[in-house]
Amino acid sequence: LWNVEQAKKWIKRLNDKIQENKAYLTELDQAIGDGDHGLNMARGLQEAANKIADSHYDDLGSLFKDVGMTLIAKVGGASGPLYGTAFMKASLVLKDRKEADRNAFVAAFSAALDGLKMRGKAQVGDKTMIDVWDPVIAWMKSHETIRANELVDLSKEKMEDTKELEAKKGRAAYLGKRSVGHLDPGAVSSYLLFASLAESFE
Ligand code: ADP
Ligand code: MG
Ligand code: MG
Repeated sequence: LWNVEQAKKWIKRLNDKIQENKAYLTELDQAIGDGDHGLNMARGLQEAANKIADSHYDDLGSLFKDVGMTLIAKVGGASGPLYGTAFMKASLVLKDRKEADRNAFVAAFSAALDGLKMRGKAQVGDKTMIDVWDPVIAWMKSHETIRANELVDLSKEKMEDTKELEAKKGRAAYLGKRSVGHLDPGAVSSYLLFASLAESFE
């Protein structure tokens, strides 16, 4: 079972990791984008972390909704609406739930992935955050027990695999083959998201 306290811990840890990696994410986006991913994520996650730290939640759905609305409102660029939509879609699944059992947890993350795909229209292999999200959610669906170390290892591996891909969506797609050899910034922030999620299981 995963509860409101753990969800709060997740967002707090995610914010810490994003702030720690702000310059790194910016550097990655400078190579194949417009260099604002670190700034976008740092601003959005700080606002989201402040918002939930100051609020009381009776259910997971309202916490996810606050995070999603904050990201949509405060983050410019592609990543704000994408991550925001993911949290909003998950919030519908978690509505009125004080805690999520394994099935509700997987259903929520699956709905988040559907939201990302609906909003961004990216496929696996397009060198976007989908290249981390899609295999991670498929793995969640096929495993009865969601183990923290396996979640970290898989999301890291899929993040690293984006290096050799040619971008087909987002700003990096303008570079075509010149995008090969660089990690996708959104895949790296998604790895941080799943790594901090794994830390909330403890
Ligand atoms: P912007 O590109 O508008 O400056 P960010 O730099 O914050 O926005 O985010 C860039 C990241 O967003 C990319 O690295 C990629 O992972 C993700 N992204 C961009 N377009 C899409 C899309 N259509 N679908 C999924 N993810 C996308
Ligand atoms: Mg950018
Ligand atoms: Mg931008």
